[in-house]
Amino acid sequence: DGVTLERVREHVWEIPREGGMRVPGRVLASEALLDDIGEDDSLQQLKNAAHLPGMTKYALAMPDAHQGYGFPVGGVGAIDAEEGCISPGAVGFDINCGVRMLRTPLTYEDVRGREEELVEALFDAVPSGLGGGGVVNGSRDAVEGAMERGVEWAVEEGYATEADLAHCEDEGCRHDAKPEFVSKKAKDRGMNQMGSLGSGNHFLEVQRVTDTFDDGVADAYGLEEGQIVVLIHCGSRGLGHQICSDYVRKIEQQHGDLLEELPDKDLAAAPAGSELAEEYYGAMCAAVNFAWVNRQLITHRTRETLADVFDGVESEDVELLYDVAHNIAKRETHEVEGEDRELFVHRKGATRAFPPGREEVPDAYRDVGQPVIIPGSMGAGSYVLKGGERSLSETFGSTAHGAGRLMSRTQAKQEFWGGDVQDDLAEQDHIYVKANSGATVAEEAPGVYKDVDEVVAVSDALGIGDKVARTFPVCNIKG
Ligand code: 5GP
Ligand code: MN
Ligand code: MN
Repeated sequence: DGVTLERVREHVWEIPREGGMRVPGRVLASEALLDDIGEDDSLQQLKNAAHLPGMTKYALAMPDAHQGYGFPVGGVGAIDAEEGCISPGAVGFDINCGVRMLRTPLTYEDVRGREEELVEALFDAVPSGLGGGGVVNGSRDAVEGAMERGVEWAVEEGYATEADLAHCEDEGCRHDAKPEFVSKKAKDRGMNQMGSLGSGNHFLEVQRVTDTFDDGVADAYGLEEGQIVVLIHCGSRGLGHQICSDYVRKIEQQHGDLLEELPDKDLAAAPAGSELAEEYYGAMCAAVNFAWVNRQLITHRTRETLADVFDGVESEDVELLYDVAHNIAKRETHEVEGEDRELFVHRKGATRAFPPGREEVPDAYRDVGQPVIIPGSMGAGSYVLKGGERSLSETFGSTAHGAGRLMSRTQAKQEFWGGDVQDDLAEQDHIYVKANSGATVAEEAPGVYKDVDEVVAVSDALGIGDKVARTFPVCNIKG
């Protein structure tokens, strides 16, 4: 369409500044991925995002980018925290949607032939789908505790260990959380969803490690070929969704003047320093904590299930490798043109990828860099990367969050039939998928996603997130 792209260097493309754009747009992609990205409205959305006041250096699209609500998925926007703004649409509806990886003492040999038994047991143990109910009966106190203290709450309640805290982004708690700015409606929606995958794109997948690319770092991450790991993907459920809706509406009502400067009303943003900016930030952080608790409660059930199914495996043998958010905005300090700046770094469908040394990286990984987890699809590989040395200068310490969609859900349902997808995966690849509905399997079929190997190759080549290990699905429960 009407978006001009200029090649800067290999894998780096720029949308030059024009009209009301404050900065240029930047797309990080191979030519093949750029063709995929150009298929939907994501480049126009990136251009629109560059209109947000305070956007610093450029509005960025990662190699997995695709169209989202207002701001593209796979988008990164570093916005001045004093003179800029914060935009709920640039965080996403599923606040702190993210992934965590558990490492187990099991090998693929231990699991082979027992995949169906395992997938049934996990499906029974981990609440999923549209129906209500979570791992815990969410009382009002539980919801408040989770929002306020995140995984620390889960430790107090016996659902997490101290080691879990140490292996989660931000140690599993954003102390900026302000549950008082979360509506009753949002809290009510969270009550019966504490410890639940939800539906659609969320999943729990048992995987085997097929390759390691950097033996030193793989060792530091506790990964080796043939090992069984578990990937958990979900977010803050109805609670986060409600917070996003609440604040989009309030911001549209109170900051119409800013809205008028923006080409798309879905980019609604609260000016930095305004009451709504403070309130949204506090409420968003509360949802971030809630999501970490959600993934933690699912971890707890997963540990129990693995200990149940496999002789000789104890819950405590199943360790958290790392948990990363991929829908979030954070106040971070970054060097821009030789100066330290306070920025709201919006990562929507993008993962923090801090290199060795950054104080935010937990002690266990400070010397090697932050683990970055990139899921592929239920029929393709997934990756563990490490934060790359060039991520701070290129992407405000960020990289991709997945393979990224190639087609809409509607299109996917026309293209694929869930039952057939499941049969093919089982027969051809020994991957056992159990889902709440066939439609979900069709919407999430491997063919609806871009080539994850290519996405990761771009990240690695740019030095923003470097390959450490690759995994492949064994069995999968779909929300
Ligand atoms: P999102 O958060 O955007 O819904 O999804 C993140 C990424 O997860 C997608 O871009 C896709 O690459 C990946 N993904 C979706 N479904 C599955 C799955 O069942 N298994 C794995 N390993 N990855 C998936
Ligand atoms: Mn999500
Ligand atoms: Mn997600």
